[in-house]
Amino acid sequence: MIPFAYQRARTPAEAAAAVARNPDARFIAGGTNLLDLMKLQIETPTQLVDVNGLGLDKIESGPDGGLRIGALVRNTDLAADERVRRDYAVLSRALLAGASGQLRNRATTGGNLLQRTRCPYFYDTRQPCNKRQPGSGCGALAGVSRQNAVIGGTQACIATHPSDMAVAMRALDATVETVQPSGQMRRIPIADFHKLPGNTPQVETTLAHGEFITAVTLPRPVGGVQLYQKVRDRASYAFALVSVAAIVQKDGSGRVALGGVAHKPWRDEAAEAELPRGAQAMAARLLQGAQPTPENAFKVQLAERTLQSVLNQARGQA
Ligand SMILES: Cc1cc2nc3c(=O)[nH]c(=O)nc-3n(C[C@H](O)[C@H](O)[C@H](O)COP(=O)(O)OP(=O)(O)OC[C@H]3O[C@@H](n4cnc5c(N)ncnc54)[C@H](O)[C@@H]3O)c2cc1C
Ligand code: SF4
Repeated sequence: MIPFAYQRARTPAEAAAAVARNPDARFIAGGTNLLDLMKLQIETPTQLVDVNGLGLDKIESGPDGGLRIGALVRNTDLAADERVRRDYAVLSRALLAGASGQLRNRATTGGNLLQRTRCPYFYDTRQPCNKRQPGSGCGALAGVSRQNAVIGGTQACIATHPSDMAVAMRALDATVETVQPSGQMRRIPIADFHKLPGNTPQVETTLAHGEFITAVTLPRPVGGVQLYQKVRDRASYAFALVSVAAIVQKDGSGRVALGGVAHKPWRDEAAEAELPRGAQAMAARLLQGAQPTPENAFKVQLAERTLQSVLNQARGQA
């Protein structure tokens, strides 16, 4: 590891200002992704600003009937919260499908949203990767791409976003709250938070350098049967090949977001009009324009079948 300075922030605004001052500074929360990236020298910050002592570890009921989740709430605590299990079951299920018990005990809400891709070329510093080293090329395009994106990618990058939690939050229409280096607050709908790769795959979110996530808010509960199904190569400790977060209402309408298929949680509200017509119609619309590689073309059919399985379960539980 390369030496770095370490500092504990006393307030969110102080944390944001400290990171903003140094282009090579990073926040550290649970450290379950950042420390791995530092050990491999994929990320080489000269300064770490520890945000664990800021008191942002509470889940509060909002006046509008929603929920405000502090950025430092651990994945384990969020999944186990009674209100989340009752009113936002898709989120609890998605969290429990991720990582392992030990990791979830450390991993935080803010850090989970900002975890980096698991594309194998990103993790191998001898390989070309536009996300790790802009302009070096994309090893996955003609290489190993089983885990990679089938939609929304470009010739610059076909990485996927690996978070399970974020897929459920996309289905729930969450909002990310931040404090900017100027001290001003900002609210970003989760639909606008993660970016597609375009020609700048190293830019993954709409956050500015130094902008600090303070919380994620969920609107009032929408009811319905809420399910999360994740298909992966191993039963645990593996990232999604395809995942489906679904909220299905009694009349067959609902919301669907996919994980494992794109650079961001994949949802298209217009496609949800097809949901009452069944999984085939919905998946065809949702993945219209998909451009898989020969290695990951199976994901298109897998997405449809996983959605079908989720709809069958929802029907059984309605
Ligand atoms: C073996 C393994 C298996 C895993 N499997 C899964 C899985 O199946 N599904 C899944 O979803 N995840 C999985 N993960 C990823 C895990 O969920 C993430 O590593 C974790 O959620 C990151 O949270 P953290 O608090 O540890 O982030 P950190 O590592 O501390 O930080 C990650 C990034 O977020 C930034 N950051 C952190 N907090 C904030 C904030 N409040 N504001 C602004 N920036 C911030 C940091 O600067 C850093 O860039 C796995 C990880 C491992 C190691
Ligand atoms: S898909 Fe993206 S992360 Fe993977 S090698 Fe290509 S540029 Fe890098």
